[in-house]
Formats: sequence, C-alpha cells, structure tokens
Amino acid sequence: AHLDRITAVDPAVHAFLHVDAEGALAAARKVDEDIAQGHVASPLAGVPLALKDVLTTQDMPTTCGSKMLEGWVPPYDATVTRRLREAGVIILGKTNMDEFAMGSSTENSAYGPTRNPWDLDRIPGGSGGGSSAALAAFEAPLAIGTDTGGSIRQPGAVTGTVGVKPTYGGVSRYGLVAFSSSLDQAGPCARTVLDAALLHEVIAGHDPLDSTSIDQPVPAVVAAARAGAAGDLSGVKVGVVREFRGEGYQPGVVAAFDTAVDQLRKLGAEVVEVSCPSFTLALPAYYLIAPSECSSNLARFDAMRYGLRVGEGDAALSAEQVMSLTREAGFGPEVKRRVILGTYALSAGYYDAYYGSAQKVRTLISRDFAAAYEQVDVLVAPTTPTTAFPIGERVGDPMQMYLADLCTIPSNLAGNAAMSVPCGLSEEDGLPVGFQIMAPALADDRMYRVAAAYE
Ligand code: GLN
Repeated sequence: AHLDRITAVDPAVHAFLHVDAEGALAAARKVDEDIAQGHVASPLAGVPLALKDVLTTQDMPTTCGSKMLEGWVPPYDATVTRRLREAGVIILGKTNMDEFAMGSSTENSAYGPTRNPWDLDRIPGGSGGGSSAALAAFEAPLAIGTDTGGSIRQPGAVTGTVGVKPTYGGVSRYGLVAFSSSLDQAGPCARTVLDAALLHEVIAGHDPLDSTSIDQPVPAVVAAARAGAAGDLSGVKVGVVREFRGEGYQPGVVAAFDTAVDQLRKLGAEVVEVSCPSFTLALPAYYLIAPSECSSNLARFDAMRYGLRVGEGDAALSAEQVMSLTREAGFGPEVKRRVILGTYALSAGYYDAYYGSAQKVRTLISRDFAAAYEQVDVLVAPTTPTTAFPIGERVGDPMQMYLADLCTIPSNLAGNAAMSVPCGLSEEDGLPVGFQIMAPALADDRMYRVAAAYE
C-alpha cells in the first residue's frame, strides 16, 4: 500500500531519492515467514520506513543529496540501518535532503527540492525535508532523520509531524555521513509520539563503533509515552524560554504555542517562565562550529577514494587539479560557502577569535540549560519562528534561511534531548506549527511523557 502511495504522490512531493520496491517486498516477505514461525523481531516488525539519504545502506545508493556521491553504494550499513533491519522494519527507500544536511528547506539538494504536502509551493523544512514530507504525505508511517542544528525538528514542525533529536550519543553515528561530528544526531520521525518512541528504542543504544556513543541504558521512552498518554502532568514543572518570542516570530506561531502551553497547565503541569540569556548567541556560535567541523569532515571528498572524479584519465592534470575540479563540480553553493567559512575560522591567527569564542559560547549555553533544569523538568519553545515558507523565498538569503533554526540549535550545542510535536495550525495561513519540548541529556523519557500527554 505504501509503495502504491509513493507511486501516486511522490512525482509531486519528491520525498524520495531512491525507492527499493523489490528489496522492501522481499524484506516484508521475510518478516511474514518469521512471524509464521513464531518469531517477532520487534513491535515494529513489518512496518515500512523512509530513511534519510545520509545514512549508509549496503543495498541502495547513499548520496547525501550531493552530486559528489551520485550513485555511490556504500560497502556497509550504518548501525541505525542495521538495527532497523534486525527489528524487521522495512526500508522503503532513501529520502531527499539538503546537500550533506546543510540547509533548512531541502532546496539545497542537488536533485531538486522536496515539496510540502500541505502546500506544494512551500518548503518541507530541512535538511530532512524528504523524511518529514514522506510522513505527511502518508508515503511511510515512520522515518529517520538527522539533526545537527534542527534538521529533524524543524521539518517535523512545518509538516505537522513528530520529530525527535535524542540526547547526543544516544543513537550511533556509525555510517551517518559526517557534517559536524560534535552535533550530528540521528533520530526518529513519525506521526505520533508513541510511534516515535517505539522507533527510538529500536535505533538507540551503545555502539562500540562510535566513540561518542553513550554506554548507558537507553531511556525508557516507550514506557514514558504510554504513561504520558494518560494525560496527567501533575507534579511536572515546565519552563517557557523567555528569549524565544518577539520580533521575527509569526503571530500565528506564537498563538498556537501559547495555546499549547495552556493545555499543559490544564493537564496539571506547573508552568513558569525561564530566562536563558546565552541562547541568543547560539546561532552565531553554531555558524562557526558547524562550518569548521564541516570543512574538516568534507576534506574526505578528494576525488581519490570514492565518489565523483572529474578529469579521470587526463594525463595533463595533476592530482591537485583533479581534486579541485572535482570539488568545484561536485559541491553546491551552500556546501562551498561553509567549507570556505570553516577553513577561515580554523586558520592560524583566527582560531582563537572565532572557533575558540564559539566554543566558549557553547559552554555558556550548557550552563544556561543546567541552571534552567535546576528549576524545571522540561523547557518549551516554538520549534521554528514561522510556518513553512514559499519555495524560493530564502534561497538567495542565507541569513534568513539560518534563522529557521534559532530555537533548535541550543539543544544541539549542549547535546541535550529535544523534540517537536504538532500544535495545531497557524491562524494566518492554516499551516502546521511545531511545539518544542526539551529535556536534559539522558532524560529523553521526560520529554516523551510531556509530549504524549499533550498529544
Ligand atoms: N539548518 C541547519 C544547517 O543548515 C541545521 C542542519 C541540520 O540539522 N543538519 O546547518
């Protein structure tokens, strides 16, 4: 049914870069056989899923939305991919994304934009717009995204779906093509909180193949979602982040957010306002740290080991010329902008002024979170300041594009857990609004409880 749905709607939505109908049906048949023999791999056995094209798959191309990796079939599965397969989850295909996960609209994909199923002339968010659009268009009931600065939560918000960024280190990064290694985190996308929790428990857990993977029990998010569904939040203290409203926030987004906060009060939560003054510095700090790590990580696309090679066989070209011609042709403008920015920020003489300062801001943000979590159990804020904007509106204005992640980035910089759940439609344009719930590192279960109660 999902493959039929993809055939019917994906020509218009373009959520997928690659669909593996045969592979999906074969995997589904295998699950049927296993179940007939009394073996059920997990509660999600047989459930189809859309996988962001930044996670490696042995049997399908992994392009990261880039010409650099066009047609590249990795020799190994990411740990997330492997865990999905072991749980009997059926991988339908790979979803579209901003090139190497850099963007907030999926317009930076080398393979053309994904469209928002709510309004095909609008963006589905990014970088994981393909995964969230696939959910909103009912092409898949589950999806996987990755969130470096908001790429799971912001697409979730603007497509009216649930998106979770687990605690940093909670889900293995092995086989997740690196953008900014100290921030990158894979997580579940779904249409309900419980679905996200079930998927979370399938993909999370310690992995010796990722040196930053946390060697501790996975937070009991399914139990928390089930407990929360009873709708009782008495005893829970919720902090509204004071800094995340005002200029630049669409009135309909603020109104939907305020209604959601009222709802938490009605469910018994105690709501207080909390100030996190350093959060306003998160965006500039992120745009030094993320490009710095990106410039280092993307150095591997050197035309030698794998991926695109321009000038193959031309004896007149030096190795250096082949590298530079390949990087010139293979990377899009946003990736180039960040590689240049990051290389500059890391260069001798500038390192302390830029990268060093950004790292200090990162510490201040962690301290703001720590102080806030001494007063409250979870923090809430809008996920993103506006609803889905029209395709093309921000492509020529990187600053406007970057602002989409104003409210999501602090949790990445601190390594904390955060998620977005739908909170109704904006009164101005009838488009979905996202409600962000944040929790301390390793307290992912806390935010699931609140999210399930609210939902
Ligand atoms: N939009 C942000 C960026 O462009 C976040 C991307 C992400 O989370 N992968 O960097």
